Amino acid sequence: MTANPEIDSILQRGADGGRITPEEALLLYTQAPFHALGEAADAVRRRRYPDGVVTYLIDRNINYTNVCVTACKFCAFFRAPKHKEGWSHPTEEILRRCGEAVDLGATQVMLQGGHHPDYGVEYYEELFSSVKQAFPQLAIHSIGPSEILHMAKVSNVSIEDAVLRIKAAGLDSIAGAGAEMLPERPRKAIAPLKESGERWLEAMAVAHRNGLSSTATMMMGTGETNAERIEHIRMIRDVQDLAVANGYRDDAVEQSHTVGGFRAFIPWTYQPENNHLKGRTQATTMEYLRFIAVSRLFFDNVAHLQASWLTTGKDIGQLSLHMGVDDLGSIMLEENVISSAGARHRSNLRELISMIRTADRIPAQRDTWYSHLAVHLTEADDPTDERVVSHFSSIAIPGGGAGRTQLPLVEAS
Ligand code: SF4
Repeated sequence: MTANPEIDSILQRGADGGRITPEEALLLYTQAPFHALGEAADAVRRRRYPDGVVTYLIDRNINYTNVCVTACKFCAFFRAPKHKEGWSHPTEEILRRCGEAVDLGATQVMLQGGHHPDYGVEYYEELFSSVKQAFPQLAIHSIGPSEILHMAKVSNVSIEDAVLRIKAAGLDSIAGAGAEMLPERPRKAIAPLKESGERWLEAMAVAHRNGLSSTATMMMGTGETNAERIEHIRMIRDVQDLAVANGYRDDAVEQSHTVGGFRAFIPWTYQPENNHLKGRTQATTMEYLRFIAVSRLFFDNVAHLQASWLTTGKDIGQLSLHMGVDDLGSIMLEENVISSAGARHRSNLRELISMIRTADRIPAQRDTWYSHLAVHLTEADDPTDERVVSHFSSIAIPGGGAGRTQLPLVEAS
């Protein structure tokens, strides 16, 4: 109970699974006492996941090119076409990295890159079909609506055609990347050449109705207002409502590979290094944690909420498990995009599992669709492979990390 009956009433409704309005979400975000907010969000998690399980994933983010024509102001990863530091990896190199990931037990790859001026649908068809052919056991959770819109434009086809073709080539799931801030004002301020938030959501809706599910993300901390943060999740919730109303999404069959809609929401915090925005603004820990909790209460139609320990740090990642989060995301065998902007937190499998267990949750490895692959009820159930650690490449930290072309801590099997 708080001193404000209106806030109490909204928190109780949200905790019980009732819908809260954007205005109510803003009130909670800006005025609800921290502990009451976290308690209500955690009640949602407990109701949804009474087994106390918190999941994690083993995957590798593999970048095929850093060449990009979109020049987002917060991005430290891209290089403009013809820039001397621009690169593109051949398919053989991507397959080699997929093979390393499989050796380490990865179940998913996230193929991620810039908007290369020459990469149309044909490029992605070749890429995904090559990966699927070589490693049918890997789920390809890759590219976001921005890449779909870009490839459709390059190949002069509709969004629907692009989605159907890359799905047929092997794409299993759409990444929530590129959402940044969906409302127009903050989006134009940080990514003026990127598609609008409405177009981003339109591409997601097309994917959903064609049986591809996705995640949704949000980047906090580039100068957006509190109201704009709430507007971002309002826009995503509305699209999920459509997916549910049209039968593309059903929580009862959320582990099915054939339903669309958003599986999870993943807010993360803007990283300040090596980009045009220069970190003039950043989200604080309290802003992040409060937003996590409000998101859990607001998204009555999205099953999972993922912490971003890569950007917030492991302690905050663990704390978020008490603010409604049920998934710690990936161990990230490789990550270069956010790391290039200063995110240097890294972990290993043993530590990730320990973070979950010492938060009084039951750790479980999941697949892309949140099916449990291994539940670690006690330490005796824990995996013992010491090689499963997060890596940075030298493009993320000059002179440091694991090197640009290979993961040296990984011994080929
Ligand atoms: S965030 Fe993506 S689209 Fe924007 S500049 Fe970076 S690589 Fe390009």
